[in-house]
Amino acid sequence: MKARQFIEDLDLKGRRVLIRVDFNVPLDENQKITDNARIVAALPSIRRIIESGGKCILMSHLGRPKGQRVESMSLKPAAEELSLLLEKNVSLAPDSIGSEVEKMVSQMKEGELLLLENLRFHQGETKNDPQFCEALARLGEVYINDAFGTAHRAHASTAGVAALMEDRAVGYLIRKELEFLGAAVLDPQKPFTAILGGAKVSDKIIVIKRLMEKVDALIIGGGMANTFLKAQGMEIGDSLLEEDALETAKNLLDEAKKSGVKIHLPVDVCSAPELLQEVETKFLKVEDKVQAGWKILDIGPESVKQFGSVIQNSKTVLWNGPMGVFEYPAFASGTRGVTEALAKATDAGAVSIIGGGDSAAAVNQFGMQDRITHISTGGGASLEFLEGKELPGVSVIPEK
Ligand code: AMP
Repeated sequence: MKARQFIEDLDLKGRRVLIRVDFNVPLDENQKITDNARIVAALPSIRRIIESGGKCILMSHLGRPKGQRVESMSLKPAAEELSLLLEKNVSLAPDSIGSEVEKMVSQMKEGELLLLENLRFHQGETKNDPQFCEALARLGEVYINDAFGTAHRAHASTAGVAALMEDRAVGYLIRKELEFLGAAVLDPQKPFTAILGGAKVSDKIIVIKRLMEKVDALIIGGGMANTFLKAQGMEIGDSLLEEDALETAKNLLDEAKKSGVKIHLPVDVCSAPELLQEVETKFLKVEDKVQAGWKILDIGPESVKQFGSVIQNSKTVLWNGPMGVFEYPAFASGTRGVTEALAKATDAGAVSIIGGGDSAAAVNQFGMQDRITHISTGGGASLEFLEGKELPGVSVIPEK
């Protein structure tokens, strides 16, 4: 994999640098940011721009305002947070395009910062509308993409505007993502184990197939394991099942056998009659029938033990998707156990990579984020990258 043009390769001094960041931060009902991690993650590129004497014009989306101005989705809290983090003034533009914004940009001095208002207040953003792209392009001379979470979308700010600008590069965050995810797939230290979980098999078939060509072992947990268990003739009661994927699951198990990849499925589960905070739960071995009316909602303790020992014998571990409904404490033990095993393996020198989304949320919930080598900032983007798809927000940046 060739490296992409990088922020450090470009001359930024005195130039208007338009940078796409991911400031899509969670807000509470009082518009207070509850987790500033995404803003913190963009700091290295932002600092590079201002310290090089560039004029830093930041653009992001927040939520889904669907092409309309929605005050509760203003980026004002993000401008304030960034200002606190940098100890520097960050102005918020009244819009993302237009004559007033162009005037503000023209008055910027070297090292100053301006955050454009939520890009998705315009429909042109998600539609990658040419006029909207041109209006954005007028604001900058250099384009930087550092929003990995939206790099799999061909939107105006991630793809369209970049194509209109001569000088373009990826920032520190995207480069780091590409390095870790790329190394995991192309050149992993062996033994290499992938852990896949989450709700559906159908969402992850392509990535399972691709990873099977690379891994020594594949651990499958979460709701998607049910379909594999059923394909092997187990009774899974009223658990989440994808009838349409049963055949695919059988084929994947056969393919794994042929190619010598060891697939680890749960050997025991935690089940309940309903997904509730307070509910009776039963631990069962997978050979025991899950009764009609009961659902598998987590992997059991023996599975945690077995998965844990596979993880601790690995040198590279890639994880996407929780082992159970970890949002409910009664069904979080499996995901917590796998997180602990991953943290221990990392402490012992393994490279651990978490593909964003729910598994990243889980690791943060358990407070073990500092013991993981790399937690991707893009769930959808990392999955598409691992599937071998081109990410429009990356492929628009020239290779070196
Ligand atoms: P995904 O987006 O496919 O990674 O799925 C993540 C979701 O899968 C989480 O919200 C989990 O609560 C859910 N999940 C995990 N295990 C199960 C299960 N056994 N039954 C139903 N949902 C599950």
